Amino acid sequence: MTRHRSHIAHLARHTLLLLAMAGMSAVAPAQEVEYVPVDDADSAIVAELSDTFTRYAYSVDRWLKLESQKEPYLTQRNVFSSFESGFKRATVARLEYTFTIEGGTETRVYHAMSGVEPDEAFARLLSAKDGLSPKPLSPVADQFRDTRWDVRASGLDESESELHAAETADGLDHSADAELKAFRTLERELKEAKVAAGGQLRVRVSKIPCESCRKVFARFADRFGMSAEIAYTEEGSEAYAAFDERRKAVFRRVRNNRTGVRPLRPLEGNLPPERLPVCE
Ligand SMILES: [Zn+2]
Repeated sequence: MTRHRSHIAHLARHTLLLLAMAGMSAVAPAQEVEYVPVDDADSAIVAELSDTFTRYAYSVDRWLKLESQKEPYLTQRNVFSSFESGFKRATVARLEYTFTIEGGTETRVYHAMSGVEPDEAFARLLSAKDGLSPKPLSPVADQFRDTRWDVRASGLDESESELHAAETADGLDHSADAELKAFRTLERELKEAKVAAGGQLRVRVSKIPCESCRKVFARFADRFGMSAEIAYTEEGSEAYAAFDERRKAVFRRVRNNRTGVRPLRPLEGNLPPERLPVCE
């Protein structure tokens, strides 16, 4: 099964390349968006997606620790489990952008999760309890480990972006999809000239991208004249199972630590180095 699927992926990849080459002789090359299903449980992509999830789990852990010192509302079993069920199902996306700057190359990594941002979810839960307006995002958002290379993507204002969720046959709202958040964040940085255009895009997603996100990728590729490689783990594959197992193990630590008087940094030892090697 696994081998079979890899073979198909390989063929698909090959066909795209041939099409690209054939197209080049006649007209200017179209910007390619290449889809690569990943099956191998040992793939670096599994580790990369787990790294992105761990950053979010770390941020959630900080929130819980800060809040529980005063009034342990978020850490109550029913409140926490309603948050947890959504958080553990959310799609994880990771966008690596490599570009040339001052004669060298640099890679920035945009991390995203689908749905309501955890900080916002907590603010909503607290406001529902107090009847107060939602609190601003906690400073915990700053403890996400944003570095020179790592950026936490978020849902940006519709009016600030040229990338929008499309109407799809499934009838679902895709405006908070992880991939859209990641691409919008990169779009903003390109427009602000924080990063240079014409770079290489590698995207990793924990599930097969939906129709709406595929339109977003195509729009982005056209708008900025870049090709993209979108690798994803499909539910049912060994790679997805491996990712899901790691995700559960990380979150179990958050859950088990949520009420204890333990050091504030239970996940610190679990965090990967700040800069992972770029996957080829
Ligand atoms: Zn999507």
